[in-house]
Formats: sequence, structure tokens, C-alpha cells
Amino acid sequence: MPDGVSHVSSLSKPLVLVVEDEAALATMLRYNLEKQGFRVDEASDGREALTRIAESQPDIVLLDWMLPVMSGIEVCRQIRRRSATRDLPVIMVTARTEDQDAVRGLNTGADDYITKPFSMDALLARMRALLRRSNAVTAKGQLVFHDITMDLAAHRVSRNGRPIHLGPTEFRLMEFFMQHPRRVFSREELLDAVWGPDIHVEPRTVDVHIRRLRKSINAEGELDIVRTVRAAGYALDTEPV
Ligand code: CA
Repeated sequence: MPDGVSHVSSLSKPLVLVVEDEAALATMLRYNLEKQGFRVDEASDGREALTRIAESQPDIVLLDWMLPVMSGIEVCRQIRRRSATRDLPVIMVTARTEDQDAVRGLNTGADDYITKPFSMDALLARMRALLRRSNAVTAKGQLVFHDITMDLAAHRVSRNGRPIHLGPTEFRLMEFFMQHPRRVFSREELLDAVWGPDIHVEPRTVDVHIRRLRKSINAEGELDIVRTVRAAGYALDTEPV
């Protein structure tokens, strides 16, 4: 298998940020999560967690309750306060003695919680449930973002109920964006993920297809949901630049 192929699949693997100050537990989680097909990033205190979230843009966060520098609950509050991470799935990890506090954790915006010691199966079930929800993949194999729906099986796209015709490249581009909403991708990352690593085209080609995609999905007066992030790339987003 050529190198690039694994790179493409690695981009579509969900990225988990493990926020845990117990090094042994963090190592165990990384090992098991990678074995289950996740990419793993780590932070060992609350402040580092916020930095890692901004830098690596994880798909889901496992957040230890008791952390040095800044508590898990404060990290969670900050995640919810920022528009870029408002919908980021967060699972709070508590010790048994903190169980009652976990309810408080849910009140501050954690999506779920799990009590130490936990089994990997229990953790994975919660993670997968949250990731399914955040990707908004319905049982019918649809991707939904804002007012756009993609039916992957039927190869149909609609916005606000209005059918949209996309060329094959724009369709794949849109599918990739819909699978990773709000995440910024560079032109090179988009080329690898959508065109494939063996295709050698200019990064500028991406701009051409983004332009076509915008023309197709944005009717007059509609919000442009493809965000251009200067010097960084593109993202599917409802927030203005
Ligand atoms: Ca801890």
C-alpha cells in the first residue's frame, strides 16, 4: 500500500484529544484508541487542553475532571463559550468519588460522562454515539449541515429542500466538508483527501472547485457556508470570517 493511501484514511479517522494528567492512563488510552482506528492527541493540564483544541481541532475530547492548572469543568465552559468549539463533543472522565459532580459537569456542557475505572468498550460506545450525532449522519445515510442535506446513497444534495447539482469533484469535496464541519483544511489536505495522493495537481485547482461548489450551493441571498480562512484554507462553517 503506498504511503499516501494511509495518509488519506488517516485524515478521515476521527481525532480524539485525551486530556489526562495520569501519564499511565493517557498512554493506555492512546494505545487502545489508536488500535480502534482513532488518531490521538494529548494534553496533561487544562490550559494545554485549550491550546491543543485550537491547534489540532479534534473531533471529540475526553476530559478528565481533576486536572492541574485548570479544572475539567472550566475547560468545558471555555469550549462551549467559543463559537468554533461550541458543538465539539466532550466526554467528562470522573473518579467514582466525583460522581455527583459529574451531573454538574453535564450542566456546564459536557455531552456525557464516564466514571473511572471504565472499560474500553463502554468508552468506545459513548464516543461512537457522540461522533455519530455530531456528524449528523442519520440512519438513512444522510449528512446534514445547517440547511444542507447530502444523501450519499442516492447521490443527491439539497439546500433548504431545493435540489442542487454538483459535479463529481464538488460532490466529493462537499462530502468531505460535511464529514468534518467547522474544521479548516489546507489546500494540500483537501487535495490528498478528495483527489487522492497520487494525483498531482496544483493547489490552485482546489480554489477552482471551491468556486464552483460555492456557485452551486449558494443561491442569491443565501449564507455562504464555505469559509475561506486566509493563509490556512477552507472550512464548512456558518460563522463569518
Ligand atoms: Ca486527574
